[in-house]
Amino acid sequence: MTAAHAGGCRCGAVRFEVSAEPHHVSYCHCGDCRRASGAPVSAFVGFPVDQVAFTGKALKMYENGPVTRSFCGICGSPIAYVDERLEDVIYFTLGAMDVPADFPPTLHAYVSEQLPFLHMPDDLPRYSKTSVKRPDGTVP
Ligand SMILES: [Zn+2]
Ligand SMILES: [Zn+2]
Repeated sequence: MTAAHAGGCRCGAVRFEVSAEPHHVSYCHCGDCRRASGAPVSAFVGFPVDQVAFTGKALKMYENGPVTRSFCGICGSPIAYVDERLEDVIYFTLGAMDVPADFPPTLHAYVSEQLPFLHMPDDLPRYSKTSVKRPDGTVP
């Protein structure tokens, strides 16, 4: 596999490589991401899951309904998000990428849950809820 992009956690125990370009880069303002990250807004980079290779044994999972978030079991860095209804894709936390500046977000999701004091004056599309429709029509 020829890595186009790579990333990992704070301590280096979790590493990954991706051999594709992202199909999705977004901000998420939802409360679930806020809890999981500790940050007022999160950002994600979406790739085809079959183009991703992990190395290291420290990756841990936390399942919440159809959504599984992964993180480093040693340093706790959030790594990725998968939704079992979107089985072909994986969303890495933008901050886990080695070169996060390569992934400018193209939209805001869940602005209905955006914190009132958070101002991001850009012209990107804003979605009240999810920007990615689940095949069964529900939203996360
Ligand atoms: Zn780590
Ligand atoms: Zn979210």
